[in-house]
Amino acid sequence: MPDLTVRDVRPILTSPGAGSVQKRLIVVKVETSEPELYGLGCATFTQRHSAVATVVRDFLKPLLVGRDPQRIEDLWQTIHVNAYWRSGPVMNNALSGVDMALWDIKGKLAGLPVYQLLGGKCREGVAVYRHADGREPTEVEDNVRRFMEQGLRHVRAQMGGYGGKMHAMTPPEGALAGAYYDPDGYARDTVRLFAHLRDTLGDEVELLHDVHERLAPIEAVRLAKRLEPFRLFFLEDVLPPEQIEWFGMIRQQCTTPLAMGELFVNAKEYQPLVEGRLIDFIRCHISAIGGLTPARKLAAVCEAFGIRTAWHGPGDVSPVGHAANLHLDLSSPNFGIQEWAGFSEAEQEVFPGCPELRGGYAYVSERPGLGVDLDEQAAARYPCPEGVLEWTQARTPDGTAVYP
Ligand code: MG
Repeated sequence: MPDLTVRDVRPILTSPGAGSVQKRLIVVKVETSEPELYGLGCATFTQRHSAVATVVRDFLKPLLVGRDPQRIEDLWQTIHVNAYWRSGPVMNNALSGVDMALWDIKGKLAGLPVYQLLGGKCREGVAVYRHADGREPTEVEDNVRRFMEQGLRHVRAQMGGYGGKMHAMTPPEGALAGAYYDPDGYARDTVRLFAHLRDTLGDEVELLHDVHERLAPIEAVRLAKRLEPFRLFFLEDVLPPEQIEWFGMIRQQCTTPLAMGELFVNAKEYQPLVEGRLIDFIRCHISAIGGLTPARKLAAVCEAFGIRTAWHGPGDVSPVGHAANLHLDLSSPNFGIQEWAGFSEAEQEVFPGCPELRGGYAYVSERPGLGVDLDEQAAARYPCPEGVLEWTQARTPDGTAVYP
């Protein structure tokens, strides 16, 4: 469309439901010179929500007003380097909010869902996994069975939350407050859990597990090796981004499939893992790497190396972001699996057109663009609360602060 320009760029913050510091959603709305033509993009960085909003409001809006919103690639590159220092979760999420909104606008202009712009469907629905927890193996088993009864064929199983926070610990005198866990007890329990699940559930269900970077590198190697007999679909974030060189050692020891990447914010972090075929699934958080534009390129690079996608899809991604995941899943030949958190009634009220889960598969609305709208009046009824995050203040039994 000739003469189309960006008229306004606004961050919209909302925490649908009870309001939680763990669910502060940020959506960027890009409005155009064409009345009624706008796009929405996910910029959700729950832990630093107001910082992302500031970048959008104070820096991206003045940069973008008056420009042609149809030039997605050029605008992505322009925004990416505009601060000179680039990348990082705050700036990438702000960039993603604009980027996804531009894809949304592009789809609306074309009258097509975004997956059509990405090459069209490779499959009709997107297989998802959900998350089962419990304090004992039998409780986890019951929760896995509950999802299986709903038609899911993939379930991620944890016991006692990330790091298994349920062991008796004796911290030293004067130990500081924190989210304590015992890495050794966690690793032992995890082997016990999967032995039980495979024994009782058989081989039909695909089981996943998230280490959440809770182990020392050699313990991570040992856990991957000890879990090999239980045939996981994948083992997630077994090492922190700072220790990716250890992935080669895991590869030498076992065939447990590895998924990595939800903390990555820079292409240089995943390149060695992809080139070296050291992981099996890439699971970046799409808004944290800068949106659909870099994610579709990453998916294509992974395809060349035989690596499948498993984009991060937790509760602190807006329905707009989940829709972006699904459009890419639908159109990627090397799609692997999609994490699925589900949407509350409040989220569905704020975001009309939320993707839907039926029989273990997620479906996007077939509306043009990303297919999700935002009711700004409803969003305003659920303001984001302020507060300090507790779960990221992880400590081991002697009180040492560690990766969460
Ligand atoms: Mg994870």
